[in-house]
Amino acid sequence: MSFESVNDILDILQKQAQWQEQPLQLVLKIWAEVVGVVANKHTRPLSIQRDVLWVATSSAAWAQNLTFKRQTLLLTLNEKLSICLVDIRFSTAGWKSSPEKVKLPTKVLPSQHPSYVDDATTSKSAIASPHANNTDINNANTAFGRWAKLIQTRSQSLPLCPQCQSPTPPGELQRWQICAFCAAKQL
Ligand SMILES: [Zn+2]
Repeated sequence: MSFESVNDILDILQKQAQWQEQPLQLVLKIWAEVVGVVANKHTRPLSIQRDVLWVATSSAAWAQNLTFKRQTLLLTLNEKLSICLVDIRFSTAGWKSSPEKVKLPTKVLPSQHPSYVDDATTSKSAIASPHANNTDINNANTAFGRWAKLIQTRSQSLPLCPQCQSPTPPGELQRWQICAFCAAKQL
């Protein structure tokens, strides 16, 4: 496998990632301005899937309230960003598990690190460590779960690789007639 082929694959994957992230980044930039300061505190755009913007809200009441206004918001967003969103869905789902709402300690002391062991405070560490480890594992699981779900949702609209039957970005099929992973195996 030549370096050129590897670079080609990485290049395509990176461009796809950028293309998928960009519209949401644009929305995030002007979201506060579009919904207003108060609503901005209770909402957070999560993703854009098939031209539908998904927004997490702090409560069901906020979801309902903003659903009534979504046509106006939609018009404003499309006009300002020259994108073509077809709808906005508001839901409390994803609000609590949001990374921004998780309060991380601004300064982590060595003794707060899960792998920290101090002979003088062995009893303390024994109590603190399992908690720290569980939290780390939970955070990792949540993050992975969100990522897997996102990929899965995105993958549903993708054509299948004829070789391994995995959902494959059209750009890869155009280039290799198979997915990037199968292409890499053959090179
Ligand atoms: Zn494949």
